[in-house]
Amino acid sequence: MLTPLRWPDLPAAQQPPWPDAAELEAAMQELSTLPPLVFAGECDLLGARLADAAEGRAFVLMGGDCAETFAANNAESIRARLKTVLQMSVVLTYAASLPVIKVGRLAGQYFKPRSNVVETRDGVELTSYLGDAVNALPFDAASRRPDPQRLVKAYNASSAALNLVRAFTQGGYADLRQVHAWNQDFVRDSVAGQRYEAMAGDLDRALAFMRAIGADPEELQRVEFYAAHEALSIDYERALTRIDSRTGLPYDVSGHFLWIGERTRQLDGAHIHFASTIRNPIGVKVGPTASPDDVVQMCEILNPERTPGRLTLITRMGSTKVREALPGIVQKVDGSGVPVVWVCDPMHGNTREAATGHKTRVFDDVVDEVQGFFEVHRDLGTVPGGLHIELTGDDVTECVGGTGGGPRGQLSATDTRRPVIRA
Ligand code: PEP
Repeated sequence: MLTPLRWPDLPAAQQPPWPDAAELEAAMQELSTLPPLVFAGECDLLGARLADAAEGRAFVLMGGDCAETFAANNAESIRARLKTVLQMSVVLTYAASLPVIKVGRLAGQYFKPRSNVVETRDGVELTSYLGDAVNALPFDAASRRPDPQRLVKAYNASSAALNLVRAFTQGGYADLRQVHAWNQDFVRDSVAGQRYEAMAGDLDRALAFMRAIGADPEELQRVEFYAAHEALSIDYERALTRIDSRTGLPYDVSGHFLWIGERTRQLDGAHIHFASTIRNPIGVKVGPTASPDDVVQMCEILNPERTPGRLTLITRMGSTKVREALPGIVQKVDGSGVPVVWVCDPMHGNTREAATGHKTRVFDDVVDEVQGFFEVHRDLGTVPGGLHIELTGDDVTECVGGTGGGPRGQLSATDTRRPVIRA
């Protein structure tokens, strides 16, 4: 019999103020008996794919909603998100002639870190909305009470989502011959949508040629797709960490890839310790205030065996800081000899408050951070390994500028598209 895991009592930032310890214990017990959502072998395969990205033989595309919600956990929304990732990845593969490792921010992205754990409106103070796995959005006491049964609901919702994703990606929907069907209706008529159609036309001709000569490889019909989320709730992730019977090693079976957020990456905290324990490939968000020495120390803790693909650093500096803050970190990590995959998240360092009070992003800032990321790696001779993007398949209002957003600096109060909630 395998020894159950024991966790040291370390400080954990950003944990929900669960009001009832017995309720939490009951939910944890239930979660710890439920079947795994992913398998250790799948996590290992993703680790091997990421090792290719670390060395420039593949490119990672991570994308999905800022936060999933139970209400949007339906076939239409999941298909739309998948479509967007498939569409982006086919463009990247075509442009870069590299395999693209597709990782969804889905089937577990139900937790949100917040700047303030409480929210006050008209003198009433309630727990902030911490994601559907913890409480509900409406501003009333019952909705905002953290409810541990929501953790079980998040597991069930993730299980259903992953089941559908596996069906879509293995059952014909991801077949490259569907390339036109992935173009979203609300994008189709934009300049970008038309450029995509032109590229899809080129692909069609290439595929028709291959069929004509009798080549119809399996790889065209299905895709490998992995699920990732932020390992924010230490209770949820620990309850879903199991010892793999094949290897005797611990894996967090809530998702293939787990990342630690910018607000929870304290070197002596519970999150970094947790990430160091599990064998899944892991990521850490790194913002502009991180010191190169701390990042190297973190790399030593998280990847002591120096396994390529084990650790991904997701840098999110902001467009105005990327060119000054990133080089020192990249140089120091590179010099340490710990292999990492460098991924750029151009979203979380570029959040601004719009006149409507919604948090938003300017499309040009997002593009500028991506350009800065590539420039820094080109100058240092290191490998830019991928992108981590918040995206949705719905016609939402979020970014301003770009091909479909509002004009620069404006987010219209009369826009009927769904605003996105930002942490
Ligand atoms: C996120 O990715 O949802 C997030 C909150 O990012 P960060 O930890 O970089 O702020």
